[in-house]
Amino acid sequence: MEKELIYLDNNATTRVDPEVRDAMLPFFCERYGNPSSIYHFGGEVAADVEEARRRVADLLGCSFRDRDGIASEIIFTSCGSEGDNAALNAAVCARPGRMRVVTSVVEHPGILTYCKELERRGYEIVYVPVDGRGRLDMDFLKNSVDENTAVVSIMWANNETGTIFPVADAARIAHEKGALFHTDAVQAAGKVKIALDELPEIDFLTISGHKLHAPKGVGALFVRRGIRFRPLIFGGHQERARRGGTENVASIVGLGKACEIAAGRVGREQLELSRLRDRLEQGVLERIPAVRINGDLENRLPNTASISFEEIEGESILMLLDQQRICASSGSACTTGSLEPSHVLCAMGIPYSAAHGTVRFSLSKYNTAAEIDHVIEVLPEIIERLREISPYWKERGK
Ligand code: PLP
Repeated sequence: MEKELIYLDNNATTRVDPEVRDAMLPFFCERYGNPSSIYHFGGEVAADVEEARRRVADLLGCSFRDRDGIASEIIFTSCGSEGDNAALNAAVCARPGRMRVVTSVVEHPGILTYCKELERRGYEIVYVPVDGRGRLDMDFLKNSVDENTAVVSIMWANNETGTIFPVADAARIAHEKGALFHTDAVQAAGKVKIALDELPEIDFLTISGHKLHAPKGVGALFVRRGIRFRPLIFGGHQERARRGGTENVASIVGLGKACEIAAGRVGREQLELSRLRDRLEQGVLERIPAVRINGDLENRLPNTASISFEEIEGESILMLLDQQRICASSGSACTTGSLEPSHVLCAMGIPYSAAHGTVRFSLSKYNTAAEIDHVIEVLPEIIERLREISPYWKERGK
């Protein structure tokens, strides 16, 4: 009989919640109207899209509703990467003449690659470094933001280590110099509380559906009211002319449902996930030598464990875990396939011998203590097997 799958790669993507799927199903063959159509069949669907928008706004703690009762600070997108690109694009357009963009070295490629594009267009990009625990150098950030800065973009939480960044402080620094502030909250949304009403200096915030039990291919971008928003995608008047293209209605409804579920669980889930994560880390530390836990242990996402097993290859660990039907990741999903240590671990100055052997376990509400115990049981043997054939490990023992 095939072993049960143990899925510990929830920062890469999550299983769609069955309640989310059920909420989406009517929008394929029954309520399939175009929200822009003027007949009732379309108008009803438009109302469902607006309900989803309110639910996203509620998860993000943003209570603003416009005259029509619409949570119009939320724009639906196709993914987190689009939200990141659109935010940076809109921000530089809203601050014409300012030619500097400040971000961190550990951002997701959704930001870093767009920054490269901005660089080609003549912008100067300043990358704020992090320390060995993945914490942002706030003095460097403060010294980097000037009157020429259009936007500061700092992620809410890092996808590889789970380290949470002081976005409220970073946003204040940006505003002091008249720059806009964006945060990529793709990994944070649903895992930690977000209260945009209490953070008026955050101008843009990105989320992605598939990281919080909604489907792939849908996301949302929060844009603070009053900011002139230049679209990334030009087309029809959808999303109040801020994103062209007929709405992905079923997925938008799914995202709304996922946000509603997450909003009702966030505190409890934080506690449950951190208990499971700690159980995993504790078990590993007790049973396996030469191991380090990466990230800011005092301030990180409750579901993420980045563990370095020294002197072996993370990819080999993943392959042996896979034989046991256990899914995890080495570095971020986007860099899997490349044997270079991840840019996040490199930026943290993690020695090569440890960075190479790093595995990210990321949990969700679907994981159980029994699954974690099984991982703790099989891992020591896997690590021992690999170290037996590792010349570096042998060298170290001499
Ligand atoms: N930002 C962060 C922090 C992420 O972890 C990811 C996905 O891994 C993204 C952005 C991109 O999201 P999407 O896959 O929806 O484009």
